[in-house]
Amino acid sequence: MNYAEARQRKSDKRWDWTTKNGRVWPTGYCAGWIVWTPELAARVSLPLAVLQAEQTKEQPYRAKYHTDGHESREDAERCFYEYSLDHLKTVTMARHRVPCVFPGCAEWTQTALESPGMGGLFPLVELCAEHCTRAAVERIHPFGGGLRLIHS
Ligand SMILES: [Zn+2]
Ligand SMILES: [Zn+2]
Repeated sequence: MNYAEARQRKSDKRWDWTTKNGRVWPTGYCAGWIVWTPELAARVSLPLAVLQAEQTKEQPYRAKYHTDGHESREDAERCFYEYSLDHLKTVTMARHRVPCVFPGCAEWTQTALESPGMGGLFPLVELCAEHCTRAAVERIHPFGGGLRLIHS
């Protein structure tokens, strides 16, 4: 199991958004910008070209990646909240239609927005074409402290 939450560093008392599975490592923007080399790719057992292609998609967010941590738990949580909003993916549900979850909307939809990775912050937010936006997800899931995620 992976346990994701903001954790304080022992070294300088700064806060990172992290995942723990045996060891603890910073994730999201707190992980810092990685320049993939053949050696690093070998260490995570993935093809270098795949990792570099993924990284190319991240270029627009490059400036948000950092390794200097945050002043507080809440700041680290906000960092991950922002990361989750920046990386929303559109999902089409082929088999069924559901009501849009935007407050006051009665449209039926087959689309949803989802945060990246397993067990992300916003699992499948069903929204109609009009409400299928980052702003709608922010409104439905406003930032709240005490973020914690568990996923396999
Ligand atoms: Zn951060
Ligand atoms: Zn709607």
